Amino acid sequence: MSSLVDGEALLSKLGDRFAGLRGRLTPNMGMEKVTWFRAGGPAEVMFQPADEEDLAAFLKAVPEEYPILIVGIGSNLLVRDGGIPGFVVRLSAKGFGEVERVGETQLRAGTATPDKRVASAALDAGIAGFHFYHGIPGGIGGALRMNAGANGVETRERVVEVRALDRKGELHILSNADMGYAYRHSGAASDLIFTSALFEGMPGERTEIQAAMDAVQHHRETVQPIREKTGGSTFKNPEGSSAWKEIDAAGGRGLRIGGAQMSPMHCNFMINTGTANGYELETLGETIRSRVLQNSGIRLHWEIKRLGLFRPDQEVHEFMGQFL
Ligand SMILES: Cc1cc2nc3c(=O)[nH]c(=O)nc-3n(C[C@H](O)[C@H](O)[C@H](O)COP(=O)(O)OP(=O)(O)OC[C@H]3O[C@@H](n4cnc5c(N)ncnc54)[C@H](O)[C@@H]3O)c2cc1C
Repeated sequence: MSSLVDGEALLSKLGDRFAGLRGRLTPNMGMEKVTWFRAGGPAEVMFQPADEEDLAAFLKAVPEEYPILIVGIGSNLLVRDGGIPGFVVRLSAKGFGEVERVGETQLRAGTATPDKRVASAALDAGIAGFHFYHGIPGGIGGALRMNAGANGVETRERVVEVRALDRKGELHILSNADMGYAYRHSGAASDLIFTSALFEGMPGERTEIQAAMDAVQHHRETVQPIREKTGGSTFKNPEGSSAWKEIDAAGGRGLRIGGAQMSPMHCNFMINTGTANGYELETLGETIRSRVLQNSGIRLHWEIKRLGLFRPDQEVHEFMGQFL
């Protein structure tokens, strides 16, 4: 499948600017290797910095007119088949994956740390309040941006402060209030790349924390298709209802377009049954929005972040297949 980006050309144009960097630059990085959906076109150039200093140097080196996008573990991303123009930054565990205890009830974590590791570190330290991370398959950067939450707890309830670099490579320390949290959303400036965060829990008993984590895992395995290629909840819950109920009522459970399907197990989870591309996944999502609008008058809003370019023959329109 042809993409619309050319990472080799971009690097040969700008390559000299990156001479001093210690991280890895990869042209035409297949995003199907990164996203949980295992679908989508390439990132024109992916940069994996060695550490925060290296990331700052990279941000300063890229001319302003080139877009830079940050991705995490890819568990909430749908990448379009034309690819992502410009640069995609991905932080790796080496450099951004440390978790350390601070005082009695705080943890500092690099943003490439998987949420699950933060839950385990909290268990080891006897700090309660992080069991919900045991069930979320993303990383801390994504959790901070998405205000990830489960089991009645959200990231915003644990954040003390966040370190971030802006598009110019300048360092910012954001307080909890600066993060501008709402349901599955942070209002912090969209160019910020979070590099680490300080969290606060409460003193807890290890046996109780372990039991809460086990309950989270058991619940997940019974109600969510966690072993499928998926992006988690496709749509945010609308005011006063649940997205899955509205999708079910509109006949969306199990609906298929090509290799994309609304999970028969949890119908707000979209799955790649094996051959889906970004176009099929997004078309299915817009078809579902269209059906729900017709059935109940509710406009569902995407929770999954959609990135990149449509191929010219594949443009997906809002509410595609209106009233199919
Ligand atoms: C099976 C399954 C179950 C899920 N269950 C839940 C759940 O219960 N609750 C829930 O909230 N979510 C859930 N999700 C969705 C997803 O795991 C979360 O949104 C997670 O926080 C995304 O983290 P990520 O590292 O995968 O981010 P990505 O998907 O890679 O990116 C998501 C967003 O975060 C931004 N981002 C990532 N890293 C950084 C950074 N360092 N700095 C700034 N921005 C950054 C990206 O630009 C993008 O906008 C589930 C997903 C799956 C596949």
